[in-house]
Amino acid sequence: MDDRKFRTAMGKFATGVTVIATEVEGDVHGMTANAFMSVSLDPKLVVISIGEKAKILNKIKESKIFTVNILAADQQELSMIFAGQLKEHKEVAFDRLDGKPVLAGAVAQIACEVSAEHVEGDHTLFIGKVTDIHLEDAEPLLFYNGKYRSLTEERTVTV
Ligand code: FAD
Ligand code: NAD
Repeated sequence: MDDRKFRTAMGKFATGVTVIATEVEGDVHGMTANAFMSVSLDPKLVVISIGEKAKILNKIKESKIFTVNILAADQQELSMIFAGQLKEHKEVAFDRLDGKPVLAGAVAQIACEVSAEHVEGDHTLFIGKVTDIHLEDAEPLLFYNGKYRSLTEERTVTV
């Protein structure tokens, strides 16, 4: 199977958009990611998946901490900055949650300590033990079919 078919199929799964952030010796590094999932309620665990070529990979291995910042609908530019999609460098200020770098205005800031890592194919899965959470009342940024989207209407689902 070719890569394009796989990527097109995976792009049919509508997701939110996160920026994963970590810090090594005072240097904060962020990366846009949509491979994020809730794993366990007791204990509270999440998982992220980081490509083998991503610079943030060794930084998380070293720091053993990361944050997941679920972006708001008005934060598409941050997604593009941290995916390396903007030509010019832009300074981004980080707030702190549990001492870890987080993005102001994110729908949710989730602070984690790495509790396990698993290399699978060309990605590394990091399991994060959640140490703190901050929530904002805002609409999320969405990603579907390779394009950014936003919620347009709220529908009642009857089961
Ligand atoms: P770099 O390419 O060095 O960093 C990314 C960008 O962030 C650079 O432009 C850099 O200047 C900027 N940056 C970093 N830190 C700071 C800072 N402190 N202040 C200001 N700017 C900073 N890849 C995955 O591995 N897993 C995923 O789940 C994933 N999901 C994605 C979802 C979407 C919607 C998109 C668009 C991309 C996704 N990617 C994912 C790809 C990933 O975002 C890019 O490959 C990214 O460029 C890799 O980042 P890097 O760690 O190699 O660092
Ligand atoms: P795309 O059409 O390649 O991505 C569609 C979907 O395919 C993504 O949402 C993701 O689920 C999957 N995907 C893409 N590249 C992948 C990879 N290297 N490993 C595992 N899954 C992958 O392109 P796009 O939506 O325009 O994304 C922009 C850029 O960001 C591309 O370079 C893409 O490779 C990268 N990206 C990487 C990942 C990832 O590594 N998990 C996820 C999303 C996007």
